Amino acid sequence: MKYDVVIIGGGVVGSSIAYFLSANPDFSGSIAVIERDPYYTASSSSLSTSAIRQQFGTPPNIAMSKFSMEFLRNVGTRLAIGDEPADIGLHQPGYLVLATPERADAQRAKNRVQRSMGVDIELIEQSDLARRLPWLNTEDLALGSFGVGSEGWFDGPGLMQAFRRKARAQKVDYIAATVTGLAMASSHRVGEVVLDNGERLVAGTVINAAGPWSAGIARMASVEVPVVPSKRCVFVFETPARIENCPFVFDTSGFWLRPEGQLFLCGIPPLRENDPDDFGLDVDYELFDDLIWPALAHRVPGFEQLRMLRAWAGLYEYNTFDHSGIIGRHPEVSNFVLATGFSGHGMMHAAATGSGVSDLIAYGEYRSIDLSAFRYERIASGQPIEEHVY
Ligand SMILES: Cc1cc2nc3c(=O)[nH]c(=O)nc-3n(C[C@H](O)[C@H](O)[C@H](O)COP(=O)(O)OP(=O)(O)OC[C@H]3O[C@@H](n4cnc5c(N)ncnc54)[C@H](O)[C@@H]3O)c2cc1C
Repeated sequence: MKYDVVIIGGGVVGSSIAYFLSANPDFSGSIAVIERDPYYTASSSSLSTSAIRQQFGTPPNIAMSKFSMEFLRNVGTRLAIGDEPADIGLHQPGYLVLATPERADAQRAKNRVQRSMGVDIELIEQSDLARRLPWLNTEDLALGSFGVGSEGWFDGPGLMQAFRRKARAQKVDYIAATVTGLAMASSHRVGEVVLDNGERLVAGTVINAAGPWSAGIARMASVEVPVVPSKRCVFVFETPARIENCPFVFDTSGFWLRPEGQLFLCGIPPLRENDPDDFGLDVDYELFDDLIWPALAHRVPGFEQLRMLRAWAGLYEYNTFDHSGIIGRHPEVSNFVLATGFSGHGMMHAAATGSGVSDLIAYGEYRSIDLSAFRYERIASGQPIEEHVY
């Protein structure tokens, strides 16, 4: 079998690329997506908490969020199948990023970058914060950075499935198989994608959208990418406390929380010594008991009475170089395209990635959004995108 484009990984990133490329009237080639797990049991996209923020500190990531939010607002029609609109349940109550006096200047500097990009993020000083959000303990805070109307969360697995459905309706082949190797046509070109069912797909271009598994796929082409799996645990709790229009909250202690119906979700990055770069999905319950629960009760006193109901774990495709996406053609293996390393932003940035990568394939350049800042070459030249990681 022969395809112009073979995408490895049919999660939200691979399926977004498949959708945008197959929707592009200037591209008439054939596209296959190879996905080994049609039920997406371990895929990041099905275990994601799927929030979107504009509050980044660098223009390339802010541009990704602006583009993707615009797409998500119009997803009903963009990903409709016939008369049936897509529905991803987009909520936009905003992100509230809290800052201590020590972090306040850094937050103000980020705010200047956000405003220069036309993103309306409000800085709320402590006294105002206490008045406007009486449920929040503000005693150790200097300010909160709040973006209503362009930040929130959505049904991420629903977005992935909507991209997939639409791509299939646009004649993309989804093949349920595992990629076991890449046969090189020369040291500069991948020739074939080798599958566990014995098939070999001749490929014009190969796209690595294998999420936490993408370093293994890259190695099949003798390419190193600094992406490791990094486990993130999500805890679901109930509480008698009611908070009207509760935003997504990033606390100074590192925990995040957001409502989900009548319940709440929360999590915290693991301590480095408890983050072993493997693919295990066991929940680390002590994170909740030791770190989250005391910090939650401090920040939202009404949460002193809460009951943790359940939890799950998923993997970030964590870019150890600079925690931002690695997107674009590999400089030496010219028909090998990377779309990985999003480090907790892959769901929110999937639409921008799909559109940009589709341009790159169809036109050889970025047109809808410039993603050149995310190029692989920045790693070798030691030029990180300086983004604070949450
Ligand atoms: C708990 C959690 C919370 C998150 N919260 C957010 C958030 O709030 N906002 C946000 O933007 N992002 C968030 N993320 C990150 C986001 O979910 C990911 O960045 C995104 O889903 C990555 O999508 P992907 O398609 O690259 O990877 P995946 O969804 O993992 O897809 C990769 C696919 O490749 C397939 N694959 C791998 N190897 C092979 C092979 N050899 N052959 C065939 N197929 C293969 C896998 O089966 C998988 O389905 C979160 C992630 C987690 C785990």
